[in-house]
Amino acid sequence: MKTMPLNPDLHCHSTVSDGWLAPAEVVARAAANGVDLLALTDHDETGGLAAAAAAARTQGLAFVPGVEVSVSWAEETVHIVGLGIDAANPVLDAGLRQVRSGRDERARRMSDALAERGIHGVLEGALKYARNPALVSRAHFARYLVEIGCAPSAGEVFRHYLVRGKPGFVETQWARLDEAVGWIRAAGGVPVVAHPGRYRLSDAQMETLLAAFVDAGGQGVEVVSGSHSATKVGKFARYARRYGLLASRASDFHGVEESAVDLGRCDPLPAGLTPVWERLTDYMI
Ligand code: AMP
Ligand code: MN
Ligand code: MN
Ligand code: MN
Repeated sequence: MKTMPLNPDLHCHSTVSDGWLAPAEVVARAAANGVDLLALTDHDETGGLAAAAAAARTQGLAFVPGVEVSVSWAEETVHIVGLGIDAANPVLDAGLRQVRSGRDERARRMSDALAERGIHGVLEGALKYARNPALVSRAHFARYLVEIGCAPSAGEVFRHYLVRGKPGFVETQWARLDEAVGWIRAAGGVPVVAHPGRYRLSDAQMETLLAAFVDAGGQGVEVVSGSHSATKVGKFARYARRYGLLASRASDFHGVEESAVDLGRCDPLPAGLTPVWERLTDYMI
């Protein structure tokens, strides 16, 4: 008889993308924090899942293999988490390869754009922070720009350099929404809209996004996220009910210094929602 988890955390990052901890260290920290169901969801990469799963087995922690796919939707980057994926699935693997290939060129163009503003060598600097050279994220750029004193924090670097309209921002074509959902479903996973409260979308656009997501085969939404205020939790709980979406709870932890919410330290889900982990019972121990 499986018992439902009391402290699930279904979205976080390791050094395989832009987290600070190696996959096994993420698992150890989650276990120490009392997490009882963990998903590792690196950006566009599944390379950390085997090590995390092995560490979770040793610790007796229930572990869900996941991924966070970068999607371009209506001029905005939207992230779709896939939970319970088979990382060996060739459809998902080919899709993720395609998404990752856009990152190298973007990183070079970001570095060139910053060089035009007199900030040189940023790609080399960012690569010092990228443990996985196939996955260079704006987070790695931000860390280097903090190091050389461009701004006091990663948040400030993003605001002044790395978001749309700022000197280091470069437009990228990520996956289409229906492609990302399709790859996750092909790999047996549950597609979940990540941190919906972070997107710069009007309520009408958010509703269009959720309708398109459901149409494509999407199934869940992060109601509780490390980046959601109580107001946003309430708002996305209402959307989850209205669109018949499963509700997820996720810190989006990247590292102790960089994340407001630690592994397993999110608020509980509001009442009246169907938790996404009810669909993930295979992983419970
Ligand atoms: P990318 O996928 O390369 O565009 O990078 C996105 C990543 O940058 C996110 O997953 C976060 O780790 C980080 N990020 C985005 N916005 C911010 C911000 N305002 N402050 C700090 N980190 C951010
Ligand atoms: Mn990230
Ligand atoms: Mn994200
Ligand atoms: Mn994330």
